[in-house]
Amino acid sequence: MEDILQQISQSLSDIFESDVVQFGIRAIGIYLVILWLASAYWAFRDMQQRSDNAILPYVAAAGIILFTPIFFIFAVWIYKIIRPHEKIGEVWERNLAEEALLAEVESIHHCPSCERRIDDEWIICPSCRTRLKRVCPNCSRLVGMDWSLCAWCGKDFERREVPAAIEALPRSREATGRIAASGTAASSAATSPTALPSSSRTSASTRSLSPTST
Ligand SMILES: [Zn+2]
Ligand SMILES: [Zn+2]
Repeated sequence: MEDILQQISQSLSDIFESDVVQFGIRAIGIYLVILWLASAYWAFRDMQQRSDNAILPYVAAAGIILFTPIFFIFAVWIYKIIRPHEKIGEVWERNLAEEALLAEVESIHHCPSCERRIDDEWIICPSCRTRLKRVCPNCSRLVGMDWSLCAWCGKDFERREVPAAIEALPRSREATGRIAASGTAASSAATSPTALPSSSRTSASTRSLSPTST
């Protein structure tokens, strides 16, 4: 009986002392050491991404180193529990998204007097009747109440109708000159361009009449 036990222990010690097993144990040891150092490096990098503090990454790495290659896995667990929840990049991204949302909310137009939500194309507030926009007399597009000229067509709102009348003057004189040559009867029609078909008719009639008169 004792011989059998002795034989088993002998064979076990033989197995442990064999080169293959020794090599295996050594390889596992080396692997654990590499894993231990890599974990410390990972904690260092991870903390760098989560904190602006320059010392904290070193503290995290040192904590894992202190737990030795055998127990470092417990340090990794502790680190995962107590590390900052968000990365700096994630915080930055979240702030950016919040700012974008805020800008979107601010872009929604409100009536300046009653704060009612209004459409961008309304010219008058339906609640308090405040003038919101006006229509350009030249291009019929919506322009702001404070615009001094139309951004769409360039019409100057500050310049009153007087220059327009001056601009129109040579044109009317030219027209009256043309009509005076064709006949005196059409001179009244030149002042109102809407009556042009009738004026052409009268000028035609005077032209048809003129050969007979001469
Ligand atoms: Zn209003
Ligand atoms: Zn315009």
